[in-house]
Amino acid sequence: MVAVRVGVPLGFVVMRRGRGALEAHPVMTSRRKLSDMQRERIFLARGGVCHLCERKIRVGEKWDVSHDRPLALLGEDGGDNLKVAHQTCHRVHTATEDAPRIAKAKRQSRKHLGIKKPSRFPRKPPGYNPWTRRIET
Ligand SMILES: [Zn+2]
Repeated sequence: MVAVRVGVPLGFVVMRRGRGALEAHPVMTSRRKLSDMQRERIFLARGGVCHLCERKIRVGEKWDVSHDRPLALLGEDGGDNLKVAHQTCHRVHTATEDAPRIAKAKRQSRKHLGIKKPSRFPRKPPGYNPWTRRIET
C-alpha cells in the first residue's frame, strides 16, 4: 500500500529520512511473482473471463494476470486490481492504452518538477502565416 498525498506528483511519495525534512521519493508499486496457486485463485475468482474483451478464456488460450490500474500509475499489486486477460488482449491494451497514460503521467510529473524539456516545435509568433513571405525592400 502506498500513501498518496495531495500535491505530490504521481509516482512519488513523501518520506522523511530520520528526523530530516519531508522529501518526495519516486515509487512504483513493486511487482510480486505469482505462484501457480495464486494464478489459479485469481482465474477462478474472475470466472475465467477476460476483463478486456469479456469473453471466457478457453482451454489452451494463453492468459495473463493483468493489473486493471497499472503499477506505474500506483495500482495495487493484489486484491481487486488483479484481473485475468487473454495474452493478446493484454498486450494490445498495454501498448495502446496503458503505455500512453503512463507516458503522460511521467510528462506531467516532470513538468510539475520543472524538468520539462523545451518544445521541439517552438510557438510561431501571432499572425504567423506560412503562405506569406516578407518582400525585401
Ligand atoms: Zn480477451
